[in-house]
Amino acid sequence: MAEPHPHVYYRDGLVPAKEATLSVATSAVLYGLSVYTVFPVHVDGSTRTAFRLADHYRRLIESCQIIGIDSFEGEWSFERFVSVAMELVAANSPASDVYVRATVHVDESIPGTRVRGCRTILSMFAYDAVPIVPQDGMRLKTSTWRRIPDFAIPSRAKVNGAYVNSVLAKQDAIDAGYDDAIFLDGAGHVCELSAANIFLVRGRTLITPDVSCDILDGINRRTLLTLAGEDGIRVVERTVDLTELYIADEVFVTGTSANVAPVVEVDGRVVGDGTQGPICEALRKRHASALRSDELHGWVTSLG
Ligand code: PMP
Repeated sequence: MAEPHPHVYYRDGLVPAKEATLSVATSAVLYGLSVYTVFPVHVDGSTRTAFRLADHYRRLIESCQIIGIDSFEGEWSFERFVSVAMELVAANSPASDVYVRATVHVDESIPGTRVRGCRTILSMFAYDAVPIVPQDGMRLKTSTWRRIPDFAIPSRAKVNGAYVNSVLAKQDAIDAGYDDAIFLDGAGHVCELSAANIFLVRGRTLITPDVSCDILDGINRRTLLTLAGEDGIRVVERTVDLTELYIADEVFVTGTSANVAPVVEVDGRVVGDGTQGPICEALRKRHASALRSDELHGWVTSLG
């Protein structure tokens, strides 16, 4: 990840990035007991807009609910969350697009193996919006690591500690010369990548694992489903077998730090004709323009 921009929100105000430090004894550090989201901010001169900020905020609240953080929602209204985001981007005054990572850390010291009633800290920092996967044709490899099931650490909650699972898979994929990993669940169904959702196309049908398939309910996944529906593309959310990816006409992924990125190879098999397919191309354009301005869906929030 790129370095945080100089001003970071930490506890109750902006501080220089190097002062935003957690104690080694917090359960956030000891157990990865934090939840987070990353939202994109589009910068156009002095105009700054965030994409689907209300959905990111809601997912952060839901992540807190799932793991039992009970102090956050009462202290952090959406309005307060937006005003901190505005303050942050105004202070850093980025020249181009940034990603903003907002994290709720459980700030409890030893023994730390509990969460209810614990103090929490919000941190928010901006960094250069550099996608984490290639944008011009990704090569994916199925991971031997399986996705953590909902009954262990739920994927629909963005829990920091759970990302060890993603790191294991992504590192192996990179070591094997691929760009990212495909996670399967315990039964061998396709879940998602290390930090992006996956789609495949057969004919004019767009298929993606449904939200009960141990995936993150990605905000860009939802966006794509809406845009595809509006474009008259048939959309199906269901369990997906790995071999469906091998015979797909198109495969692509979505995510805040992935955008909409075409996949050209899965496990050494070429996808379609080995280039970006027409449905990916069309939805990618629609998505890129929705990130910047959107009058139809109310997805864009001005940050001043
Ligand atoms: N799956 C995982 C595991 C992720 O970490 C991400 C990135 N947040 C996504 C999917 C994509 O989600 P979103 O579109 O909300 O960024």
